[in-house]
Amino acid sequence: DSGPKYDFVIVGGGTSGLVIANRLSENKAITVAVIEAGDSVFNNPNVTNVFGYGRAFGTHIDWAYQTEDQEYAGGSKQIMRAGKAIGGTSTINGMSYTRAQSVQVDAWELFGNKGWNWDSLFPYYQKSEMFQIPILNQISRGADYYITYHGMNGPLKVGWPTEITNRTMLPALDQTFNQLGVTFNRDVNGGSMVGLTSHPNTVNSEENVREDAARAYYWPYQNRSNLKIITNTSANKIIWSSNSHSEATAVGVEVTTAHGVETIYASKEVILSAGSLKSPVLLELSGVGNPDILRKYNIPIKVNISTVGENLQDQTNNGLSYQGTEFWLGSPTFSVLPSANQIYGNNVSNVASYVNSSMAEYAKVVSNSSKGAVQEANILAAFKLQYDLIFESQVPFAEIVLLPIADSFSSEYWPLLPFSRGSVHIKSANASMPASINPNYFMFKQDLDAQVDVARFIRKAFMTAPLSDFVGDEYTPGMENLPDSASDSQWDDWVKSNYRSNFHPVGTASMLPRNMGGVVSPELKVYGTKNVRVIDASVLPFQLCGHLTSTLYAVAEKAADMIKKQYRL
Ligand code: FAD
Repeated sequence: DSGPKYDFVIVGGGTSGLVIANRLSENKAITVAVIEAGDSVFNNPNVTNVFGYGRAFGTHIDWAYQTEDQEYAGGSKQIMRAGKAIGGTSTINGMSYTRAQSVQVDAWELFGNKGWNWDSLFPYYQKSEMFQIPILNQISRGADYYITYHGMNGPLKVGWPTEITNRTMLPALDQTFNQLGVTFNRDVNGGSMVGLTSHPNTVNSEENVREDAARAYYWPYQNRSNLKIITNTSANKIIWSSNSHSEATAVGVEVTTAHGVETIYASKEVILSAGSLKSPVLLELSGVGNPDILRKYNIPIKVNISTVGENLQDQTNNGLSYQGTEFWLGSPTFSVLPSANQIYGNNVSNVASYVNSSMAEYAKVVSNSSKGAVQEANILAAFKLQYDLIFESQVPFAEIVLLPIADSFSSEYWPLLPFSRGSVHIKSANASMPASINPNYFMFKQDLDAQVDVARFIRKAFMTAPLSDFVGDEYTPGMENLPDSASDSQWDDWVKSNYRSNFHPVGTASMLPRNMGGVVSPELKVYGTKNVRVIDASVLPFQLCGHLTSTLYAVAEKAADMIKKQYRL
């Protein structure tokens, strides 16, 4: 045991990992190391520029994970983007700050995670946040809020970009969507998300630069002598104690640096925060997972949890775009979050009964496609919850982002709660080899239908005055390609050839009771281990209607408190 030694070793200096590192190192008696594959992006203009969404894609700070061929979605592979940098994916994301519908977080507790509900998470959303009250110019362009929803003293700056799209836009959108049954929601961050909104972003409003996990939680604290970030270094696997404990006990992490392979030792805990496409892979490389998979690669089985890497849930993103009749300056922050009732109108009960009658079959398909690793009864229970959220609680069914930029008016949209379930698993015992990532996009007809139905709703919105006055020809999909008379199957084909990942993968190390398919406990501890946690998007058991970072910051804040309590820090 000659390598460097710390109390806590965190794998992944991303969105979640830096929260944990920050909070644990508040106690000077505790040493914390963060292992991060990437490097600083503090001065990278592809990161800092608030208009720069997409510029980092495909550069060296994008993992650009590739999926397997998507057999239900036209056959081609997809790219799943994720940040490789101090700050992780928060350095390349779209900066939208929207939380979740309260009932979705309450569902965590209903499914056996004691202490995890909206009310108990809410103070942690606030703890992480430094809300920047919009100035009059921003308010006149749509920025709106209830101050009681927000935190004023946290590390993470939340607010609006300096320049928001001109002031005539929001009233016009409001008038249009009112006719489609969607009303204005002043602030979606109080647990009730349905409506048209101008949501805040993770942005430093004053300096007009992106706010990310590193700027919030790391850079102002980088001089703490008990906090060490080890960059350009990849974790390969957990090293276990060779003593026979009843529970698997981690003693450190094997890493590859520029100089070779070494071990970084942890006297208290190893915490995996490598993201939902990496943390489960690291578990498998360490012998925690499905024995059938581990045996294939001669990895000794440390803990048998067949659902490691299963339950992968992502959304699919697509868009319609139009010629603009004006020239728009500034950043748009308009989203529409319609419920199923608002999307489907009179047809909603038909859709609900179709979904209701399909779920048993869907559950069978998911279980079979996981070769039984996911139990049919467990996935069926998750589907019933999802059905209730969509059709009873009427959580948002889709997010539609409206983008009047320069001389075009486009939209991006994604149905929020798909039924498809996929997986991420190792394809080799060698940590430098890519994993097999398969989200199974459009595994079920309902997911494809949802994509088409929301597209039709958006087209209807763009044809409704006064929004219709702002647009000319439809560029995508284009009336000549898909006239209003186009059949469902023509729309299906368009969706399959134009969709992309929405980059919101969750669930691959779900926080659920072990007999319900969980990988981590309500303390986010990996079952069967004494001192290994997962704290990142992997642990969210169900997809959320909000963008993910706000909730991940809150979850990590709460987790940090639980760790501090356990060790009386
Ligand atoms: P990450 O932030 O990805 O952190 C994981 C870290 O681990 C990374 O730094 C990575 O380099 C490191 N790592 C991985 N493997 C290893 C290893 N073996 N060794 C060492 N280090 C390793 N969310 C929003 O809230 N709003 C948005 O507008 C939004 N838009 C998005 C747009 C895009 C293009 C993408 C990709 C995502 C978007 N999201 C958005 C989602 C959100 O950003 C992510 O869900 C979230 O940042 C994930 O946080 P995490 O802590 O799980 O992982």
